[in-house]
Amino acid sequence: MPRKIDSSHKNHLDTEVGTIRKDWAGRTRVALIFPNRYHVGMSNLGFQTVYRLLNERDDVVCERGFLPEEPKGPASTLESGRPLADFDLVAFSVSFENDYPNLLSVLKRAGIPLRSEMRGDSDPLVAAGGVASLLNPEPIAPFIDFFLIGEAEALLAPFFEVYRPKAGRKKNLEEIARLPGGYVPSFYAVSYHPDGTLENFSPRGDYPPVIVRQISGDISVSPACSAVITPETSFGSPFLIEVSRGCPHGCRFCSAGFVYRPPRFMPLPRLRECLDRGARLTGSIGLVGAAVSDLPWLGELCGSALQKKVRLSFSSLRADNLIPELLTVLGKGGVKTATIAPDAGSERMRRVINKGISEDEIFAAVETLVSNGIPNLKLYFMIGLPTETNEDVEAITRLCKGIKHRFLSSSRTRGRIGEITLSLNSFVPKPATPFQWAPMEETLILKQKIQKIKAALGPVSNFRVHADVPRWAYIQALLSRGDRRIADLLVLADQNGGNWPRTLKETPVNPDFYVTRERREDERFPWDFIDPGVDKSYLRQEYERALNGVATPPCPPEPCGRCGACP
Ligand code: SF4
Repeated sequence: MPRKIDSSHKNHLDTEVGTIRKDWAGRTRVALIFPNRYHVGMSNLGFQTVYRLLNERDDVVCERGFLPEEPKGPASTLESGRPLADFDLVAFSVSFENDYPNLLSVLKRAGIPLRSEMRGDSDPLVAAGGVASLLNPEPIAPFIDFFLIGEAEALLAPFFEVYRPKAGRKKNLEEIARLPGGYVPSFYAVSYHPDGTLENFSPRGDYPPVIVRQISGDISVSPACSAVITPETSFGSPFLIEVSRGCPHGCRFCSAGFVYRPPRFMPLPRLRECLDRGARLTGSIGLVGAAVSDLPWLGELCGSALQKKVRLSFSSLRADNLIPELLTVLGKGGVKTATIAPDAGSERMRRVINKGISEDEIFAAVETLVSNGIPNLKLYFMIGLPTETNEDVEAITRLCKGIKHRFLSSSRTRGRIGEITLSLNSFVPKPATPFQWAPMEETLILKQKIQKIKAALGPVSNFRVHADVPRWAYIQALLSRGDRRIADLLVLADQNGGNWPRTLKETPVNPDFYVTRERREDERFPWDFIDPGVDKSYLRQEYERALNGVATPPCPPEPCGRCGACP
């Protein structure tokens, strides 16, 4: 009998184009959960791609779930309104560590026991994947029955070869633990040295000691683009197309650039097919990827977009690669704001992070964008980067004033003056990047740096400064750099209703141990059991080059053996 669908679900469904509905009979039932609100999840192309890939299988029915809108509402799926406990699998797609508390909340509100060890054969198997799990699954390991580590295109087919809904929890987990990329935390034992660092991480049986991240050798087999379109996303209702995965530039802070190596680009014919599909549904297409401006056939793709009269938008543009076709499509599409990310203020600091963009290139990009009719700019910078000095912080202000000067001159020529928004973000050293050894800057110092920049740029006309909250960045660092002991902290935070100051005061865990401590060169990290493709020795070499202010060139056109990620 069909269920009555919750009113917030109905409101969402009413706005959607592309909702997939399938019969449950004879199929494996998967509830795919994004542990945040609907509009955040639906803005995430990775989540949408897994929804499509699962439903492309005839033997699977996949429905979506989100953090419920009502404060105490039960967790159910959007398509049928069924409780999560009715499904064979509850699979979390986790992109952001700050969503971990939401993951606990969804499990509780679904009536599913929080810890894997408390679940029995009548409970669904709880799975997780996504970039946060690929970097370091350990802080949520006790809540998850199994992780799939890597890209869905490479993982799903082998998974459904071995998974049998009726086989029972133990048998299924044993099979999954032997799959490439399958990780069952309860099958691994962890011990710690007296100083708190990891001593040992080993399988409790005949399971692989290292989990090798699985990636798709050919991303064109199933191009990632929006499955469902809705205006209720963080950026309107564009049809999203993934143009690249990984990034050749090797910015040392960027986890997506490293864990998705080698850089891969979607071939032009497949991009044109996606563009056609998107153009039939909406006039607005968003190109997604860590290296959109590096797409070798970006000019041709822009030409196709112009022909079809669709508007193209880009997550962020590299200041050194603004080709004429791109500028034409931005100008004709009426794009109002372009984002460029200098990331650091001084040339020295940009060498440390391996940004590979000079001040002159940034100024030239500003003039080019404004003179091509884009009135507003968004600038993205980080504070608290390794080796950052007061001069480097002052250089952010100086560079912004220089940008403002060029912005005004070019805007006056066009007779229209827009606005510059500066986005200031606290640097979080992430696992599987060269900065995984680095300490995070103290919260108080980050606040002082933000105040200093705000004081210098606040009075500047047509200039707005937005800064993140360093305390939240601190929590993000704790959740991304932690080990299994952080799971208890998450439970405590949940019991405290999300009150982190109280939680940090009550916990026996010393959070600074995870966040603000520089790690020893030979330290074994909680995430070292994952082989992320890039060699740890290469990451260390890159960290040392960073500390010495030495840049590393981008990936060459042909695969090389430098970092270990290319076959
Ligand atoms: S092996 Fe070479 S080409 Fe391949 S990802 Fe590493 S640096 Fe780039």
